[in-house]
Amino acid sequence: MGEFELIRQYFMPLARLHGPHSLLVGPGDDCAIQQVPSGSDLVFSIDTLVVGVHFPLSYRPDYLGWRSLAVAASDLAAMGADPTCFTLALTLPEADEVWLRDFAFGLGKAAESFGLVLAGGDTTRGPLALSLQVHGLVPHGAAIRRSGARPGDLIVVSGTLGDAGAALDYLEALSPSTDEEFVLERYHHPEPRLTLGVALRSLATAAIDVSDGLLADLGHILEASSVGASIERARLPVSPALKRLKGLAAQDYALHSGDDYELCATIPEASWAGAPSSLKQQLTVIGVIESARGLRLDGAAVGSEADAVGFDHFRRKS
Ligand SMILES: [Mg+2]
Repeated sequence: MGEFELIRQYFMPLARLHGPHSLLVGPGDDCAIQQVPSGSDLVFSIDTLVVGVHFPLSYRPDYLGWRSLAVAASDLAAMGADPTCFTLALTLPEADEVWLRDFAFGLGKAAESFGLVLAGGDTTRGPLALSLQVHGLVPHGAAIRRSGARPGDLIVVSGTLGDAGAALDYLEALSPSTDEEFVLERYHHPEPRLTLGVALRSLATAAIDVSDGLLADLGHILEASSVGASIERARLPVSPALKRLKGLAAQDYALHSGDDYELCATIPEASWAGAPSSLKQQLTVIGVIESARGLRLDGAAVGSEADAVGFDHFRRKS
């Protein structure tokens, strides 16, 4: 089977997984056409992953398919966008049918789960690399940006932090324990908080997804908003599994390690007080935005650049 047929067989099904969406023309023409409803803004972002830089050659292709789309879709969640469609540019050393089938399987599961239709793509021969561009829609002017945080806003995070970072210690484990399996699953199959992002649209003044680590990513909000913040270590949400695996160091993983793809947002106190409890249950208040620049952890300045940079284990491992 030729490369073109392989792509056709494995990727075309991803172009028709869903019912109504804003895609007028999908793969098969020179361009895809997406209708942008009047009163909506188109939100889009691209991510590139290169073998040996972002993932090892031995990484399971079905996991890679899920993870690559999840990571891209997480940026839509951070902006509060409703996901619509994506394009894929795939560079392959050879048309390996088993690899392509498994990659498309993981990618397809993610696409269905996140509500993203494949709008088109391109394939080229060369060292394994993939670029995914994701599209989403928001009501005009309603996208959550990094620059809106104001003194007095509460800082919240979704889910638990540090699990995916800890998972890197167990990637080679032959028979992982239940707790190790829990954090590994968090790493291999991140869940972009798309529904939560949309719910935050009317509440949050700023948001970002935690890809590089809480300190680094919260730092981006502070920078863009020209504010500072105080957060408390004891408030950081960590999973029972991470606590059991890492003990007192669990909070360090929550602060520094990335790859969790949870959301960090800032919400005015009055909005938080009036927020539905179903939303509050998904979020933990970890601190407050302040006018004094810089980030304070339990009152002590988190000063150096090194403290604010995420671990970036994935690159180190490969
Ligand atoms: Mg991001």
